[in-house]
Amino acid sequence: MSVEEFDVVVAGGGPGGSTVATLVAMQGHRVLLLEKENFPRYQIGESLLPATVHGVCRMLGVADELADAGFPLKRGGTFRWGARPEPWTFHFGISALMAGSTSHAYQVERARFDEILLNNARRKGVVVREGCAVTDVVEDAERVTGLRYADPDGREHSVSAQFVVDASGNKSQLYGKVGGTRNYSEFFRNLALFGYFEGGKRLPEPISGNILSVAFDSGWFWYIPLSDTLTSVGAVVRREEAEKVQGDREKAYHALIAECPMISEYLSGATRVTTGTYGELRVRKDYSYQQTTFWRPGMVLVGDAACFVDPVFSSGVHLATYSGLLAARSINSVLAGELDEKTVLTEFEARYRREYQVFYEFLMSFYQMNVNEDSYFWQAKKVTNNQNTDIEAFVELIGGVSSGETALTAADRIAERSAEFAAAVDQMADGDQGDMVPMFKSQVVKQAMQEAGQVQMKALLGEDAEPELPLFPGGLVTSPDGMKWLPHHPA
Ligand code: FAD
Repeated sequence: MSVEEFDVVVAGGGPGGSTVATLVAMQGHRVLLLEKENFPRYQIGESLLPATVHGVCRMLGVADELADAGFPLKRGGTFRWGARPEPWTFHFGISALMAGSTSHAYQVERARFDEILLNNARRKGVVVREGCAVTDVVEDAERVTGLRYADPDGREHSVSAQFVVDASGNKSQLYGKVGGTRNYSEFFRNLALFGYFEGGKRLPEPISGNILSVAFDSGWFWYIPLSDTLTSVGAVVRREEAEKVQGDREKAYHALIAECPMISEYLSGATRVTTGTYGELRVRKDYSYQQTTFWRPGMVLVGDAACFVDPVFSSGVHLATYSGLLAARSINSVLAGELDEKTVLTEFEARYRREYQVFYEFLMSFYQMNVNEDSYFWQAKKVTNNQNTDIEAFVELIGGVSSGETALTAADRIAERSAEFAAAVDQMADGDQGDMVPMFKSQVVKQAMQEAGQVQMKALLGEDAEPELPLFPGGLVTSPDGMKWLPHHPA
């Protein structure tokens, strides 16, 4: 049997797999992606974060296509959560990192979103084979050297590659091949029962596209607008309430909705979808877990194959695409002969675990229902060590930008803000503002211009910019285009 050779072979064509495959192919490497299903295929995880939409998707070159796809704009979230009986709302736009044209994400039908990313991977040079189920890794004494898979006719094939990426999701058959164990959280062991409605109520403009999350006695509901009329509605119940989602799903679903007055009210004029892809009532365990190691020589885990954290903050696709970006940087650096595998994959794992841990730790406090939202905002600041206000720290954490990675906040937004700032400065300097003008010119403005200039330089001038600091002592920094790692040389 002839063995095909690639630089990288990826198992799974969800957001994690598409991201890593595309970003490696964009550097001119030979990438094969094997996907078990034929797209479009159903998947849960419909509420995205700005870091994915304006950060990773921009790097993938797919941001404009997403903007044109007509997905509802998610400007933030609305929660009936904690001690306060009234709902409260946050807006991504209050954070300077997500202001202006990047102050939203999308609510997506995953069948469409994932297909857009996979087709984009093809356009960027990835060899994509659908209907191909990966069955095992190929390994020698030192490293993983390839994958085995069955094609749509059931024929077995082997491919060899310098790197294998397992992006085959929470049901991955391969993740254990990196070694270690999948550790489940004692704390987050919920079950979700979900379906779809036509004609549900909407929050008022301009927040009609927000995710609505409503806590009730047995757990919480998500209410996600997927179009003007279609809504994804899911009940997440605690492990102790598991019997509530067992047996007749139809009965269980309606009983849970009846338990939650706000969701009942939003669905009062709506009809449950009972045919087609959205007609099925589905149950998913959403137990949180993380593998004790994310890589071994020749093999990397991204997305749900590596770890999963409770879905209340819609972090799944963010963690999948962010880990895809981190893995791609690492692989690109090795394939370019610039850095060694151990150094780059240690950086990959450290950054990925940090992002996971930020969500995990914050979620622990978010499930305390006897406090109000101010306490959650304060906790977010504590967990992320953010220097901004409590609410900004909260919004940056759940917008996926708390790591401060420039790649996750768009260059076009930074340029736009710098231009706005420069215009405001000009206006002030030219305007008739009496004694204020010289003072602004000489102190505050100078300093602020310097800061804005640095941010702008970083985004626009690439290598001439101020060097980024590593996230960890002795760690690496990102290359100006975000595609590789660089060693950090302190000045
Ligand atoms: P997946 O999206 O699972 O993609 C893996 C791909 O691998 C699939 O296409 C699969 O067909 C393929 N595959 C599997 N086995 C093989 C094989 N052997 N060979 C080849 N291909 C294979 N996330 C959010 O961002 N927002 C949300 O609102 C949200 N809500 C959620 C609600 C619930 C109840 C749950 C359980 C999760 C939710 N998530 C949410 C999480 C989200 O579903 C996942 O985190 C995300 O889909 C992970 O992406 P991935 O690329 O790692 O894996």
